[in-house]
Amino acid sequence: MTKAIEIENLEFSYATSDGGRVLALTNIDLSIESGEFVSILGPSGCGKSTLLYLMGGFISYENGRILSHGNQVTGPGPDRGIVFQQFALFPWRTVLRNVTYGLEKQGVAKAARIERAMRLIKEVGLSGFENSYPSQLSGGMRQRAAIARTLAVDPDILLMDEPFGALDAQTRGVMQEQLLRIWDATGKTIVFVTHDVREAVYLSQRVVMMSKRPGTIKEIVQTNFDKANDVEADEQFNRAVSYVSSQVRSEYASMEAS
Ligand code: ADP
Repeated sequence: MTKAIEIENLEFSYATSDGGRVLALTNIDLSIESGEFVSILGPSGCGKSTLLYLMGGFISYENGRILSHGNQVTGPGPDRGIVFQQFALFPWRTVLRNVTYGLEKQGVAKAARIERAMRLIKEVGLSGFENSYPSQLSGGMRQRAAIARTLAVDPDILLMDEPFGALDAQTRGVMQEQLLRIWDATGKTIVFVTHDVREAVYLSQRVVMMSKRPGTIKEIVQTNFDKANDVEADEQFNRAVSYVSSQVRSEYASMEAS
């Protein structure tokens, strides 16, 4: 079976306005199985979002290789959908018309796209809000609508850039549960960028820990243990959280020292 994502020897730098370059990522090798839930964690500015956008094909690279289902990534594609932290919805469209947007672009017939959108709106817990506009929704509801919109075109890979970062703690917890249910029901591959250690350990099967800039992969921690029950009281969960936290802290400390 081909991997969902394969990255080999990737290096990426941004051009700066004075004609120089900022090395954002170097020596990145990463392989993600189809159906896997992987988090990318690391200090602010280490290149997490850059890595996600490169996988999405939203920015182009020259050094190294990124494959998605065995095909070289040269731009965005229908196999990869992205969910941003904010501003992902069209404010002038209702929830329903936001969710049907990608299907309209694909030329799916109206009845079929409405049926599919209504099913997804239900799946993300937004039934009854189909005709609301984004401004009439809470932050959590907006993010659910954004997830439904991305799921509508049925990408195998969901790339999520701190999707719950702007939400309050309680809403965030509800959204995490819901995302795990969606992942379980759909078998999607999820690549989830966060700087929240608990969130990364709770949601994913592996946590990819990055070093400070230029970002490299420092360590990959297996977190694929049973988190179904009272996870806060689970020794394995708490051990993983404290280990990963200490590694992230040491990256911040070395940032301050340099
Ligand atoms: P993270 O998501 O881990 O916070 P980013 O991927 O956003 O990090 O950024 C990685 C590094 O690249 C940062 O040091 C940032 O300053 C730099 N960077 C990001 N975007 C640009 C850009 N458009 N031009 C120049 N440098 C950038």
